[in-house]
Amino acid sequence: MCIRVRFAPIGSAPVFDPATRTIALPPGLDRAHTVIAARAVLAELAVVQPRFGAVCYCGAEVDLTPRIPQQRAGEQAVTHGA
Ligand SMILES: [Zn+2]
Repeated sequence: MCIRVRFAPIGSAPVFDPATRTIALPPGLDRAHTVIAARAVLAELAVVQPRFGAVCYCGAEVDLTPRIPQQRAGEQAVTHGA
């Protein structure tokens, strides 16, 4: 069974649950920070990470897609930026 990621508020779930091989990451991170966070946890688990992305110990890419889509607040921020 491959390592999976789920999104849960910090403190509500173990960072890594060995029973389900699930990494809990805080919700609301952008894609880049989600990858960084996942890589950090995987590195703690002694899973060697490639230069980009996050991989399971078997070498398969870990799916970092949130199951529950977040509200998109980005469009308006772009309008007001710069
Ligand atoms: Zn795997």
